[in-house]
Amino acid sequence: MFEKILIANRGEIALRIHRACREMGIQTVAVHSTADSDAMHVRLADQSVCIGPPPARDSYLNIPAILSAAEITGVDAIHPGYGFLSENARFAEAVEAHGLTFIGPTPEHISMMGDKIVAKQTAKELGLPLVPGSAGPIGSLEEITALGEKIGWPVLIKAVAGGGGRGMKVVESAETAAEAYALARSEAKAAFGNDSVYVEKYLARPRHIEIQVLGDGQGGGIHLGERDCSLQRRHQKVLEEAPSPALNAEQRGRIGELAAAAVRRLKYRGAGTMEFLFQDGEFYFIEMNTRLQVEHPITEAVTGIDLVREQIRIAAGGALGLTQKDVVIQGHAIECRINAEHPETFVPCPGRVADYHPPGGLGVRVDSGLYAGYIMPPYYDSMVAKLIVSGPTRNECLMRLRRSLEEFVIGGIDTTIPLHQRIIRQQDFIDGEYDIHWLEKLVGLKK
Ligand code: ADP
Repeated sequence: MFEKILIANRGEIALRIHRACREMGIQTVAVHSTADSDAMHVRLADQSVCIGPPPARDSYLNIPAILSAAEITGVDAIHPGYGFLSENARFAEAVEAHGLTFIGPTPEHISMMGDKIVAKQTAKELGLPLVPGSAGPIGSLEEITALGEKIGWPVLIKAVAGGGGRGMKVVESAETAAEAYALARSEAKAAFGNDSVYVEKYLARPRHIEIQVLGDGQGGGIHLGERDCSLQRRHQKVLEEAPSPALNAEQRGRIGELAAAAVRRLKYRGAGTMEFLFQDGEFYFIEMNTRLQVEHPITEAVTGIDLVREQIRIAAGGALGLTQKDVVIQGHAIECRINAEHPETFVPCPGRVADYHPPGGLGVRVDSGLYAGYIMPPYYDSMVAKLIVSGPTRNECLMRLRRSLEEFVIGGIDTTIPLHQRIIRQQDFIDGEYDIHWLEKLVGLKK
């Protein structure tokens, strides 16, 4: 087993990884920008190294600085968390080239899934159902119009290098295709330095259902059930739950088995997530994320399995400690992503956290780097806390969530706690009746 792990991330996920390491008797090294010297993960880690100034490209994305920190501190492995360098194949390769272990899949699998067209082709070969659309990148406006006529409008233009919902444009008809095509390409170029785009049929009212998988890299693989991440704003997840209120046992078993079989055939190593849209009883693969997801704790809550621990065990060369039979989904879990943003205008609100009192009690987990007096820097993601509640039934989980949100005090900055309180009051939500557009209708972004 590793003796020391470097955590190449910040915020709640750095803390989350630190906790798993600690429980396994592994020492941790935090790396941080000058803006994060007072961050909780830096305070708790055994060692910390400043890797650069606030902008992420100079610190959390700075591969030479991170590798130097790893060398100086003598770590065995690097955990990339999510975001930043977690899906950067070049980083994974550089880590291994330095004789260290990258806690994640192989660089080949990262690049394969990072190119969404290659990912879809692979998924097809693995027997996963796809959203109808272009077979490869789109080379001209005419291709979009031809495709729209063939598969039916509206269609969705998506970035090949996509992520975080950027570079996506809905095209209602041939008339608006030119503008959407130009916009999608310039957005993709700005966000990913790659303006290559592809087209999919735009599904009218799907749910976003994703399957958590684990592979040992040798052809062993299991799934840990699904998460329903349909509550989204601007294609960004806001609240997630497991299991999905929309699936029956047959659908759940079918998609889980398909995903696990794909992992085994790929000889995938580590934790990953296969994302699908689900509409009218059918699943459509959209992408695979080759890292830990923000919403992994709801899977942990319903399975009792520590996903970070499993990632570390697998990276250290261990076999999967579990068989499919060991994975038993029990009860229900919901996660609220709490952002430092105005709950109605969504304007980010970094600054000083005057008071901090997280909720507690049975079935309540808070993953957050906040503390009273913490000054939240303006340079990074606005998500400041994840509230995860679980209970024997969805209804008990909802009651627990209601009281936990009431208890949660984050003073001095705006947060989206009131938005979550509003969401869980809605009858549709209580009934589990919502698709990926539901939240945008609630907050007035869509009719
Ligand atoms: P990203 O990698 O940018 O997050 P995804 O492919 O994962 O992009 O899609 C993000 C979200 O966009 C999905 O969860 C869904 O809400 C929406 N979306 C993606 N593809 C489609 C589609 N073909 N039809 C309708 N909505 C879609």
